[in-house]
Amino acid sequence: MQISEKQIQQVNNQIQRLVAAGSFYGKKLAEAGISGVSSCEDFTKLPFSEKNDLREAYPLGLMTAPEEDIVRIHSSSGTTGLPVIIPYTAKDVDDWAIMFKRCYEMAGITKLDRIQVTPGYGLWTAGIGFQNGAEKLGSMVIPMGPGNTDKQLQMMMDMKSTVLCSTSSYALLLAEEIEKRGIKDKIHLKKGVIGSERWGEKMRKRISEELGIELYDIYGLTEIYGPGIGISCKYDCGMHYWDDYIYIEIIDPVTLKPVPDGEMGEIVITTLVKEGAPLIRYRTHDLSRIIPGVCECGSPYPRLDVIMGRTDDMMKIKGVNVFPSQIEEVLREFPEVSSEYQIRISHLDGKDTMRIYVETNGTVDFADLSRRIAEKVKSRIGFTPLVKVVELGVLPRSEKKSKRVIDERYE
Ligand code: ZN
Repeated sequence: MQISEKQIQQVNNQIQRLVAAGSFYGKKLAEAGISGVSSCEDFTKLPFSEKNDLREAYPLGLMTAPEEDIVRIHSSSGTTGLPVIIPYTAKDVDDWAIMFKRCYEMAGITKLDRIQVTPGYGLWTAGIGFQNGAEKLGSMVIPMGPGNTDKQLQMMMDMKSTVLCSTSSYALLLAEEIEKRGIKDKIHLKKGVIGSERWGEKMRKRISEELGIELYDIYGLTEIYGPGIGISCKYDCGMHYWDDYIYIEIIDPVTLKPVPDGEMGEIVITTLVKEGAPLIRYRTHDLSRIIPGVCECGSPYPRLDVIMGRTDDMMKIKGVNVFPSQIEEVLREFPEVSSEYQIRISHLDGKDTMRIYVETNGTVDFADLSRRIAEKVKSRIGFTPLVKVVELGVLPRSEKKSKRVIDERYE
């Protein structure tokens, strides 16, 4: 998506706001001699921002509005080192709720829906984002937060929740639990708004069929408001994102040059109207592409394809770049395996090996299935993995993001 005149003007305002505040990025821009942008060319010369740099601004270095205007902070959990703190003004909080309301509306959710929110509340942006958007819309929120599956299902039945907001792994766990307990006829869910991790078509189908609901993918990250900056529509062909609040470009993660619409690359986001902590050309490390053309739903908002992985998920095995999504696509061709899988990479006797664990039920020949999957993977990525077939239910399920790739070479 070429940046528009209006967006250039908005980016220019963001830069001036940063520089005037002398915040972390304001100083960086000033040091680089940047005081504004007036053309598309100027824009593509702006430096990128990175999560690692944001950590350097800990605790409040990103704060770009006067303290009296800041009403809240959120933080993204760093698995290593310091967390990133994002300050929000009242307008930022409201803008986020407006975007989230649009997401619900895109999914056909109304004031009469009862929305069960299972993502966590607290420092991170998940639960509260789902909640504020739902309240903006006027729906009834059931603010459960994660875990406590017994209570979760009890409330789902008693409150007759019609919308489930959750991660895909937790939705799957709930679906399996509902089936196990034989309570499907007491569940009133119609839609699921699923966010925060990459998930395959197979898992999606399972959740959708077992719960009997329509699913919508929601996109977002704490550094840029939180979840709710984009969502899929009923035609399920990518996620519409709100280009009056954010500008998205796709870059080649190696050359850092923008790629044409339709090509896969890393999502880079620039905020257009943020006050508390504007970000310019923020590298998300999420892989996707802009889907060219207009969606069948007629929405004027552009579309991102589903997230295909992370640039840092890229595994270099035997000198070949491999993405987990490639393995997932192969597994999708085998109806006899479940949606769960695990990839383990190790280094033995001087060479890399990749083991893929898949689950199936007891009715198929494990050895034969393993051989057939290994052949397909080889034709896709160029070398033969070891495929281990295990019984259904053996691989770990989690209420949080499933860890599907384990690289034992660096442990
Ligand atoms: Zn659409």
